[in-house]
Amino acid sequence: MFEKMDIIQHSKPFVDKKEAEAIKDVILSQQIAQGEKVKEFEEILSRYLGLRGAVACSSGTSALHLVLKAMEIMEGDEVIIPSYTCIAILNAIRYTGATPIYADIDPTNLNIDPYDIKKRITHRTKAIIVPHMFGSPASIDSIIDFGLPVIEDCAQALGATYKNKKVGTFGYATVLSFYATKVITTGEGGMILSNFHELLNKAMDLREYDNKSDNRLRFNYKMTDIQAQLGIVQMGRINQFLSRRKEIAKQYINQLKDLAIDVPPYNPESIYYRFILKVLSGSADYVIEEMKKRGINCEKPVFIPLHKLLKDNELNLPITEDAFKRCVSIPIYPALKEHQVKQILENSKAVLEETLN
Ligand SMILES: *Cc1c(COP(=O)(O)O)cnc(C)c1O
Repeated sequence: MFEKMDIIQHSKPFVDKKEAEAIKDVILSQQIAQGEKVKEFEEILSRYLGLRGAVACSSGTSALHLVLKAMEIMEGDEVIIPSYTCIAILNAIRYTGATPIYADIDPTNLNIDPYDIKKRITHRTKAIIVPHMFGSPASIDSIIDFGLPVIEDCAQALGATYKNKKVGTFGYATVLSFYATKVITTGEGGMILSNFHELLNKAMDLREYDNKSDNRLRFNYKMTDIQAQLGIVQMGRINQFLSRRKEIAKQYINQLKDLAIDVPPYNPESIYYRFILKVLSGSADYVIEEMKKRGINCEKPVFIPLHKLLKDNELNLPITEDAFKRCVSIPIYPALKEHQVKQILENSKAVLEETLN
């Protein structure tokens, strides 16, 4: 037998016996589809964010789609989003037939730039989707000031704050994802939260198709009680998850800030869903390749900026292009062991020093 190299994954869920046992109880109860556990999980999250109501969904994507449908966004409408984000947002807009309009990002936090949004607002703009990327809050108050409906995408930022107020509490609606490697997980899953009952009721109606007597087109985007139970246990651990992320981020910042990279100072309002290094010389691809040789999987924080998927790519988003070329995401998650954090630090230092030569 040969020794398998201990590869450090880029991301990983934190689940153990506690989740396994809790799910077992739900399964043995025979109530395994959407029921009381889903309701309880919705209540836990509305309380956590201090919002009036929640609608659990099968994924973050379906939650986004339902919000857009409930807002009656359709072909001919425009929705502003950053290009430097998860393609799920683009998919949800395309399901409705509306047109995505891409804005550039702020280089200091890699989030959608309010000044760039302003240039792209037209009479067709029906909504702005603001993902708080990588756990760090976007300048949400300046975006709210445009007076258009804002959907906050907190798939990567549950628990983060902006000016001491939780992100997800500023906009018209908020969307979460509970995919395996998100802040908390239900395997797959998502949620809509809002203070507006009309939106919540519409979304709830569109989420399920049974026992309806009109011919409105509906979906099956429900969460199961098994998933909800997993989420309930995970919410019991959220403070521990967030403080561990912050603790690792502090170590990374302290030890990497003097190297050939652009490391912003510690931000107590970020939850450090991702830890991003901006390489000052050389490319992100080089660093990712070298780290992989050392048994550490790093990734580009965004697989591909969305505007690069356009056929006639005439859009000029210089900050997005630069981030795509230079940003590297190194592993940061609560399941990381202390010796792995050390290993990541030592190897990052060595690789980054190489880029200087
Ligand atoms: C993961 C993610 C989504 C999509 O969530 P799914 O549950 O995978 O459908 C949407 N937006 C952002 C910012 C994400 O990180």
